[in-house]
Amino acid sequence: MGIENQLPEIVTTRLGPAINWARQHSLFQYPFVTACCGMEYMVAATSRYDLARFGAEIPRFSPRQADLLWVVGTINHKLAPYLQRIYEQMAEPKWVISFGACASTGGFYDNYATVQGIDKLIPVDVYIPGCPPRPEQILDGLLKLQEKIAVEPYDKYAFEQKKAEREANPTENPRFDRLK
Ligand code: SF4
Repeated sequence: MGIENQLPEIVTTRLGPAINWARQHSLFQYPFVTACCGMEYMVAATSRYDLARFGAEIPRFSPRQADLLWVVGTINHKLAPYLQRIYEQMAEPKWVISFGACASTGGFYDNYATVQGIDKLIPVDVYIPGCPPRPEQILDGLLKLQEKIAVEPYDKYAFEQKKAEREANPTENPRFDRLK
């Protein structure tokens, strides 16, 4: 992404954990809220549960200013292209939390109109179960994501690396492969 790829190795061995630490605790959320799970998402942000304690305080309603996409509620096939577009508009590094049974599996909407899990559309990092999930589960899901970020290779999202991978295999696009 930036300066971390230009520094000598002796610095990057210590820089990796520092970058991951900063990423863990400065998550800017984009809530993609479509249904009743949204009430529970709002509760988690109130002073009683205080999502802000974990460094994920500010929802941004522009995907270009967010790095954590919360998919909250039922996703139907009409909505699917918009969800994909929002995901694509977010800059790397970015993460996705699937919030509740409907987003994760379609929930009890086992019908032609509902996407049976958002992992058919975009990559998902953490699934939060429940219909709706309790606020404690939401906090737990966020902590799980932070644990995951802490051990990720910090240069995993380097633009140059991704560009080289894509150029090496231009036909391979994981997002569209998932739709086949
Ligand atoms: S999981 Fe339950 S609470 Fe959440 S959107 Fe689906 S039906 Fe509503």
